[in-house]
Amino acid sequence: MKVCKFGGSSLANAEQIKKIKQIIDLDPERNYVVPSAPGKRFDDDIKVTDLLIAFHNAVTNGEDFEAICADISERFVQIRDGLNLDTDIESYLNTVKEDVRNSAGYDYTISRGEFLNGLLIADYLGYDFIDAADVIFFNSDGEYKSEKTRTVLRGRLSHSKKAVVPGFYGSMPNGKVKTFSRGGTDITGAIVARAARADLYENWTDVSGFLMADPRIVANPKQIKNISYRELRELAYMGATVLHEDSIFPVFKANIPINIKNTNKPSDEGTFIVPQVDNDDGNIITGIAGRKGFSVLAIEKTKMNAEIGFGRKVLSALENNNISFEHMPSGVDTLSIVLANSEIKGKQPQLLDDVYNLCEPDSLEVFKGLALVATVGRGMIHNIGVAARLFAALAKCGINIRMIDQGSSEINIIVGIDEADFEIAIKAIYAEFCE
Ligand code: ASP
Repeated sequence: MKVCKFGGSSLANAEQIKKIKQIIDLDPERNYVVPSAPGKRFDDDIKVTDLLIAFHNAVTNGEDFEAICADISERFVQIRDGLNLDTDIESYLNTVKEDVRNSAGYDYTISRGEFLNGLLIADYLGYDFIDAADVIFFNSDGEYKSEKTRTVLRGRLSHSKKAVVPGFYGSMPNGKVKTFSRGGTDITGAIVARAARADLYENWTDVSGFLMADPRIVANPKQIKNISYRELRELAYMGATVLHEDSIFPVFKANIPINIKNTNKPSDEGTFIVPQVDNDDGNIITGIAGRKGFSVLAIEKTKMNAEIGFGRKVLSALENNNISFEHMPSGVDTLSIVLANSEIKGKQPQLLDDVYNLCEPDSLEVFKGLALVATVGRGMIHNIGVAARLFAALAKCGINIRMIDQGSSEINIIVGIDEADFEIAIKAIYAEFCE
């Protein structure tokens, strides 16, 4: 049995929704459908979720919201008419408008794209409609409650062989709607897959899966056919996006594979994200990703190596300032902390002051302009010389490596380089291992 999540571009208008019905009809195991709100129909279009945000803002700021409201209504009326349905979407739209005007709240407002689209899609497919507010739960602090959700959702699904559960939201104990972060329909899809004990979580989008590198940097990068959850975590963390980061956890725990598929090219195999990749394709590298925008806090102190508790003092300075760090390469008398610029924004003077007072270093400096590039691949463990090839490829391009980190899992080599070298480095690594 399969759970199918469809993203906003797969549901942007009636034409797209007709495509997803064809896809669903092709496979009788596609029992549960988790839709996003209608996304962009063309490049300059506005996603319904963004229209809803604008609607909420207009109401809160006491501005005129009629035009935005009309735009939102038009999107749903067009879908209803394009699908030849007789769903009374106008009365749902009126309820939403009234609720928003009566301060139903930000999360309620922005979740209505999924709710309304879900109603229409359920009608069109002839599936039951299950309101996510009745089956997906958060606590009063807005934290997702997995166990309660699983129990209630599983019970509810056992009464519906075929159903639509709108993505992106659930409810809190006071009954108010709460959403996940943007792109959160991916998470709902994973939650439904786990509750339904699905064999496969299909995530339908507008690309045929993950690419080995960012196509804005490498021309026509190859497709990733199989990737383990762990590799995906590493790549996603370093900026490779297709799937919401948090959507992996629910299915990961239940060993359910995810298949990223393209609604516009349904026969493409897409990418399989699996707990463990068994039949290997012989690739050493699975993918390359990276991000700019890091700094290094460099600390020097003679005999640092012998000072018990030195590391703890540095880390407590970070903790006191509520800063999370990326990497911590060290030498005998030196310690470097790699930090995202966004983490230290506005906090740098206090951080330096705290490190200075706690650690009494001989020197303390912050270097900006670092980029991190992660080369990820389960195949690295069995292959000697991967690091040598990687560093040689960078050296050939005259790139200076400022930091190296390889985790103990050996599926990942991370290098820190100047931001100016970022694109060249990714191209060089791709050429070395993937071409
Ligand atoms: N509609 C929401 C967003 O645009 C959630 C989603 O599509 O996953 O972020």
